Amino acid sequence: MTIERPASHLFYVTRLRRPLVDRADGIYFWTADGKRFIDGSSGPMVSNIGHGNRHVIEAMKRQMEKTTFAYRLHFENEPAEELARRLAGKMPGDLDRIFFVSGGSEAVESAIKLARQWAVATGQSKRWKVIGRFPSYHGGTMGALGVTGDLALTETFAPQIQPMPAIPAPRAYRDRDNLSMEERGLRYADMLEAKILEEGADSVVAFIMEPIGGAATAALVAPDSYFARIREICDRYGILLIHDEVMTGAARTGRYLGGDHWNCRPDIVTMSKGIGSGYAALGAMAASSRLVKPVLDMGGFQHGYTYAGNPLACAAGLAVLEEMERLDCEGNAVRMGTLLKGEMEALSKRFPFIAGVRGKGLLLGADLVADPVTFQSLPKAKATNQRLVDLCYERGLIIYSRRIRGDGIEADNFMLAPPLIITAEQVGEMVAILADALGVLARELDL
Ligand code: PLP
Repeated sequence: MTIERPASHLFYVTRLRRPLVDRADGIYFWTADGKRFIDGSSGPMVSNIGHGNRHVIEAMKRQMEKTTFAYRLHFENEPAEELARRLAGKMPGDLDRIFFVSGGSEAVESAIKLARQWAVATGQSKRWKVIGRFPSYHGGTMGALGVTGDLALTETFAPQIQPMPAIPAPRAYRDRDNLSMEERGLRYADMLEAKILEEGADSVVAFIMEPIGGAATAALVAPDSYFARIREICDRYGILLIHDEVMTGAARTGRYLGGDHWNCRPDIVTMSKGIGSGYAALGAMAASSRLVKPVLDMGGFQHGYTYAGNPLACAAGLAVLEEMERLDCEGNAVRMGTLLKGEMEALSKRFPFIAGVRGKGLLLGADLVADPVTFQSLPKAKATNQRLVDLCYERGLIIYSRRIRGDGIEADNFMLAPPLIITAEQVGEMVAILADALGVLARELDL
């Protein structure tokens, strides 16, 4: 059945029109014309507990009967208090204060501004630069774009963005030198120290990184040695370490936070996506009282958003957290992630244009390349990543794929990141579709 649709008055990123969604349950979507899709990327790594969760829906209904909105400057609300308590309990080190927002970019803006205001409040007002990494993605707002390393997203807006210094992301798996992975990890971390010295240590307030790379680097995992060295360097120069866990948080990688794999001790953590799991627009920044107290003593954090900490979003977040624990999402992400990664490795043997399979838990990625040894990129004209997305989509599987550009880098990649409740049988279903799509792609593009 094909549904006739009027011209659309919406506009999104491209002109592409997609089918109308009707409903969703678990890892599946159904469209208005009856076609089923596997959500192989949880949207953009959002729907961690899966779709249609009854416990969350009922909790939201109960909250809606009470109140959906009460402005934080007029009232406190119990769902926000309780969710902050529960999230603080999951944070590393002394991160005991939670600042709610409505999305990932807002969380990153909040972290950049908290770092700056902390510097001012503690008599370090010359410090303002936030060093980022290239490639990286930290959001679409102007402040977040300033620390985002992806020219395809920043170039047009360059005159309006305050560009921040950046160091290369630790893409050690692509390096062709005689160093061990651990030596490479240290080499990449030491680039932070060099950059701090180049910029002048007293001008730098923070370093922001995704503990496991997301949209720009497709589940990039740094060598183990990287993390402790980064902390050491930040401590040496009195620089705050911000972990952007918007994509990696909320059990996505098999631990509550991506940084938990290395017992990281960041000063600020940003989260969104999985903490609302698609039930509510919810984001959060976690920080230590160490940073928050001087800022509040100064007269308050000069920052905030209207919808922040609203009771409906927080009630949803609380129910999501309860379900995440009840369904053992961390454990299942490890079990199913191991299975899916093994399948991706098998596919990369069968299709050599898939290289560098990587990731943790159910945040898995790989590059699409012309040469699996040198990682030489495929020509842009082949538009390989978009064709792979389309071939999967036609077969009822949603995957996530990007072509990243800039600073000598042109790379097609793709990610698989289904809801964390996926079963082994459903992993098999996903892989069968992907394998079929890859076969067609290989023939069509002569890969
Ligand atoms: N930070 C990271 C690491 C992300 O992956 C994203 C989104 O993909 C963002 C920030 C921005 O989040 P949002 O799109 O919710 O503003």
